[in-house]
Amino acid sequence: CKRAGGARPLLFEPAMRERAQRRGTLEAELRQALARHELFPVYQPVVGLRAAGGDGGIDRCAGVEALVRWRHPERGIIAPGEFIGIAEECGLIGELGETVLFAACVDFMRWQRELGKHAPRLVAVNVSRAQLSNEGLVGKVRAILQATGMPAHCLQLEVTESLAAQDDAMQQALHALKALGVKLALDDFGTGYSSLACLHLLPVDTVKLDRSFICQAESNSHHQVLIEATVMVAHNLGMRIVAEGVETEAQSDAVRRLGCDKGQGYFYSKPLNFDALSAWLRDSALS
Ligand code: C2E
Ligand code: CA
Ligand code: CA
Ligand code: CA
Repeated sequence: CKRAGGARPLLFEPAMRERAQRRGTLEAELRQALARHELFPVYQPVVGLRAAGGDGGIDRCAGVEALVRWRHPERGIIAPGEFIGIAEECGLIGELGETVLFAACVDFMRWQRELGKHAPRLVAVNVSRAQLSNEGLVGKVRAILQATGMPAHCLQLEVTESLAAQDDAMQQALHALKALGVKLALDDFGTGYSSLACLHLLPVDTVKLDRSFICQAESNSHHQVLIEATVMVAHNLGMRIVAEGVETEAQSDAVRRLGCDKGQGYFYSKPLNFDALSAWLRDSALS
């Protein structure tokens, strides 16, 4: 925790104390939430943009991303922005991550049984940096794959771009996960430190271009150049590109034209619970 500079301690201290208290409460509640199974994933479709025919060339079964939600007894549904950071700091991220991964694999297998050829072909799960540096992660992932019958190649683990490329331990963790047969994606590409020049250092199958590039993909020529360059480098390295945060048809058309392989965003669908996603996928069979 940062200390307030000497100049104005009286102004800062009460606010800091309040923050610390709120965090303490949230931490205790989060521990309880894990024990009471209040955390669950919702799923956002990731659509294929290179499909022929139907839906304007959109493949609705390409994949889904699991995004954790907290069903709080008093406050209702809480988004991860409010609690992932705290889970990371107080050592609960491992348990949270396992909960989401297990649920995502169970749900994926259920879709295979219930939807057949309309089932998603891939489920993506987010892995935070704190989880990657934990030596037990690979064993946990292997155990969950075994317990659920989940085929490794249908699971994609998403890591956020960071200094991962220069970090040996991180590299090792990624290679060990790769050896399990799971797919790896580099999340939020373009927001952090890693660059196109470092992409070849990471054993990832997919690059997810951050929303900040996509939101002006149809109008901002600088963003267009960046998207095209990323697509070119990634494709040359044998990687796929997902455009994140696609909100309009114009953006969808633009990222398709610029060479992105898949799209994800409110334009296709918001994150949905298990049943709503099943309905969304069944719908696509009819239209
Ligand atoms: P992310 O992995 O980049 O996930 C995409 C986020 O963008 C999601 O927010 C999603 O709801 C939102 N989004 C999707 N399409 C659009 C769009 O068209 N417009 C806009 N404005 N937003 C869109 P969400 O669910 O609040 O998750 C936020 C972040 O929390 C995720 O970002 C991810 O980094 C983290 N997170 C979520 N679930 C987990 C988890 O199970 N484990 C870990 N470690 N992190 C998670
Ligand atoms: Ca993600
Ligand atoms: Ca992202
Ligand atoms: Ca993110």
